[in-house]
Amino acid sequence: MKILYSEVFKDHKPEGYHPENPKRLEFMIEGLKERDLWINVEQPPMAEINDILKIHSNEYVEKIRRYSESGFSFVDPDTYISHGTWKAALTAFGASMQVAKLALRKNDIYLALVRPPGHHAGKEGRVLSAPTLGFCIFNNAAGAALTLKEKAGRVVIIDFDVHHGNGTQDIFWNDGGVIHIDLHESGIYPGSGDIYEIGGKSAEGSKINLPMPHYSKDDDYIFVWQEIVLPILEDIGPRAIVVSAGFDAFKGDGLATMELSERFYHFAGASLSRFSLAVILEGGYGVGLRKGLPSFIEGYLEGKPELGKISPRYETIKVVEEVRSLV
Ligand SMILES: [Zn+2]
Repeated sequence: MKILYSEVFKDHKPEGYHPENPKRLEFMIEGLKERDLWINVEQPPMAEINDILKIHSNEYVEKIRRYSESGFSFVDPDTYISHGTWKAALTAFGASMQVAKLALRKNDIYLALVRPPGHHAGKEGRVLSAPTLGFCIFNNAAGAALTLKEKAGRVVIIDFDVHHGNGTQDIFWNDGGVIHIDLHESGIYPGSGDIYEIGGKSAEGSKINLPMPHYSKDDDYIFVWQEIVLPILEDIGPRAIVVSAGFDAFKGDGLATMELSERFYHFAGASLSRFSLAVILEGGYGVGLRKGLPSFIEGYLEGKPELGKISPRYETIKVVEEVRSLV
């Protein structure tokens, strides 16, 4: 495994309390150190502006730069920009491109443990149906996916952050070469990610949305993973996978009602262990970062998914049936 991390990620910082703050990185590092996983840590390269412009419009990128240069402000009620945001965001994007390159070179797990997060940022920034940018600046996972796509053709993105990756969906909506599988809590921010959102006309079927019922538990997630996610991977056999890894579906993480434990994240990591992974950090605000992330990595490194009896709820079985009827 290899970790790309930089202290500049802490320079994107709020004035006063905000859930998306530099302390998140400290929780994460503590959690990794507790399990001896804070190893092989390298400084990532900064992205060039031209790299960002392959994903975002010039207008949006210039707006972020301008806001950052002028000090601290909010671009919307959720999302702040500070003086250090510009450099942090370019480095987060650079780290994400770099893990994608590494993942193509040799099968392993490569982690871009970055801030600010990215999966709510669309081409022009805020995506129409969403009220805000949801703490995101540049879409790091999209940068990783494009890097993979340029080298490997078809790409798979798996996003298990508790919120729908609406920015990622917006960016690749008409690109059938990017398979985007998204598990998220139904009916919360940003409001998109319905089962019937399957891609633009030329890309139908390439976007797989799995809106999970409130209060979903490990068994619900494991069921959906086994029934939908793994068969798609089996079918495609991707050379590498981009994981938009948010840990805010962990029970008690703070922003959602989901009740996942270490068991799901361990299972998810283990089930992906035969693939090369470019893992990009998205959300996770407390216990999820401290326990979910190390469990995911341990699962990947151990490589044996637990196959016990699972009991998903009726609502979860219905999601699987509806998605199957579309695929
Ligand atoms: Zn989230």
